[in-house]
Amino acid sequence: MEKEQAKRRIDELREVIRDNSRRYYVDNAPVISDYDYDHLMYELEDLEKAFPEFVTPDSPTQRVGSDLETQGVGENAEPGVRREFAHYPHRFPMLSLGNTYSIEDVEAFAQRADKALETDFTYCCELKFDGTAICLEYRGGRLFRALTRGDGVVGDDVTDNVRRISNIPQQLHGDYPDEFEIRGEILMPYEAFDRLNRERALQEEPPFANPRNAASGSLKLLDPEEVAHRGLWCTLYHIPAESLSFETHDQALRAAGSWGLPVSDKRRICHGIGEVEAYINEWDTARKTLPYATDGIVIKINESAFQRTLGFTAKSPRWAVAYKFKAEQALTRVLSIDYQVGRTGAVTPVANLEPVLLSGTVVKRATLNNADQMALLDIRIGDSVYVEKGGEIIPKITSVELSRRVPGTESPVFPKVCPDCGTPLVREGDEAKWFCPNTDGCPTQIQGRILHFVSRKAMNILAGEATVEQLYNLGLVQTPADLYDLSKNQLMMLEGWKDRSAERFLESLRASRSVGFERVLFALGIRYVGESTAKEIARHFGGIDAVAAASKEALLAVPDVGEVIAQSVADFFSDQRHIVEIQRLKAAGLQLSVEQEDEAGRSEALAGMTIVVSGNFSISRDEMKALIERNGGRNSGSVSGKTSFLLAGDKPGPEKVRKCNELGVRIVNEQEFFSMLPSREQQASAPDSPSSDELTLF
Ligand code: NAD
Repeated sequence: MEKEQAKRRIDELREVIRDNSRRYYVDNAPVISDYDYDHLMYELEDLEKAFPEFVTPDSPTQRVGSDLETQGVGENAEPGVRREFAHYPHRFPMLSLGNTYSIEDVEAFAQRADKALETDFTYCCELKFDGTAICLEYRGGRLFRALTRGDGVVGDDVTDNVRRISNIPQQLHGDYPDEFEIRGEILMPYEAFDRLNRERALQEEPPFANPRNAASGSLKLLDPEEVAHRGLWCTLYHIPAESLSFETHDQALRAAGSWGLPVSDKRRICHGIGEVEAYINEWDTARKTLPYATDGIVIKINESAFQRTLGFTAKSPRWAVAYKFKAEQALTRVLSIDYQVGRTGAVTPVANLEPVLLSGTVVKRATLNNADQMALLDIRIGDSVYVEKGGEIIPKITSVELSRRVPGTESPVFPKVCPDCGTPLVREGDEAKWFCPNTDGCPTQIQGRILHFVSRKAMNILAGEATVEQLYNLGLVQTPADLYDLSKNQLMMLEGWKDRSAERFLESLRASRSVGFERVLFALGIRYVGESTAKEIARHFGGIDAVAAASKEALLAVPDVGEVIAQSVADFFSDQRHIVEIQRLKAAGLQLSVEQEDEAGRSEALAGMTIVVSGNFSISRDEMKALIERNGGRNSGSVSGKTSFLLAGDKPGPEKVRKCNELGVRIVNEQEFFSMLPSREQQASAPDSPSSDELTLF
């Protein structure tokens, strides 16, 4: 490859890797599989090896992927709250592991160790637990601090949350050392994961893609009470040699077990690569029966002295390697194919499958991505197909088992018209997808845009698919701005809605006026503008007027924004209907600039009050806590004589209610609470505030 071409590809790979790394570590919502991610990284490593002049210290090959919250707000970030944890430096860097999907690479690792050590040594083989890394520090036998891996140098302090994980001891027993660090993984067992996703479905919240993302999202929740309900679990696998010295890694883990720490009993000491391979093969099958996810085997040189000889690279120890299992596959049958229209009009074929168990969950549907992919697979209804789960929520079909094809089946024909509104589909440029161009008339697209607007990561308005469908069918809502014109009487027209449901909806609508500008920008649903891009654009321009006025060149100056996104943003704002919609949203009191966001919604209405929040509300508990702080109040976790009142939602903690009754502390419900706050409408009509008519956009 030519030097110039290599440089271009290196830059491209770094950008894609960084983007996916943020989605994975910070947002806990990966969009590509680990396998695909790892192969992008291998390609970058190979290119940097071939062109060492292009290696830079900030290349993803040189540093561990960071989960630090300052990088952005993740999947579980509750609206209105920047989840920033205190950071502490790691005493010893927390690194990654070199990884491979090939047995030959494991053999090469063994040969390198043989050559460097020139003597007999043993391997300690362990399961590679698929969760999120944690570092626990014990002092005087008590859990002192828990840090995430962070960027490997500093980690987020998640001690309060880790204290709620039931198998992590607060107090050690036996002959423990006075001070030491131990590292391991926080996991979410399949059972807890399924329960959490069922609960999220009931709340109309998006499910987590996999137990790993659920574990790492849960660990970063603000409310330790909520963490306690998540059913997290911990397994520990490493005491840094710099922290305590043991002759072997295995001895260190045995000692940790004797102090009451959870270490896995699945590890095995292997003599020679043959035994290592036997362990790998055994667990490739046996892991399917485990109640938690594993994604490979970690092979470590067992003797501490040899570990010291081999040392570390910038990113990982030379004395260990991870062998990763390929994503699990299952064979099942295609029952039918649906063609789904998304909010951008893209039509995606989705196969309905005979239910099959895959990586601990039952799979009934799998995406076929687009017409080209269908043709490539040559898929037919009734075919036996292999499904695989990558990082995505919806599994994908990887191949057809042609030997099982029933004769006489025909290839499905991709629809020529929109399955929803009947408009002929179009395909633009080199797009792989077919689109329904009827943006303003296609009911699915209209409802999709509203659903995106109300979604938890956007405006967090209490409306799911069924509500949006009814609002649309009744002719009440065509665009997001219509939501802010809804009256209680209109809402009571919805099937099954009573006074309380309408109130809750209106309360969530009111709370959405405090949602920050970057999320409002994301909520607008501009094509290709995801959460993190919206954040970058919002920070760069500061307000909607500047974004709307920005030229394509100005947009290209924003980190993360390339040609396609810049064009899409420019196109969006050149459409007069969008301008009108934004004017209406502005008039409804939404945050359309960063400054406005800082000022708006603040008051001293709760100054001097200490408030305890418990139970479920129309908005998340953390959002409620943020509202309290924005209005001058202070949050407290437990009821005492100093508590001003208990803010109780549905199903408040019985212990807290009992304590209130005992101490005579007032209990306030959500509605009463909102009536204590100055309403946005009042603020807007106050004499020194501009009226909505005066608010100009351009
Ligand atoms: P890793 O997950 O490949 O391996 C290192 C980690 O393994 C350690 O930090 C530790 O947390 C864990 N581990 C589990 N069991 C262990 C044991 N017994 N001993 C030691 N460590 C053990 O590396 P990583 O740096 O955490 O993450 C990189 C990987 O994450 C990539 O290889 C990729 O698979 C995945 N990833 C995926 C995406 C995506 O978009 N799908 C994005 C970024 C990263």
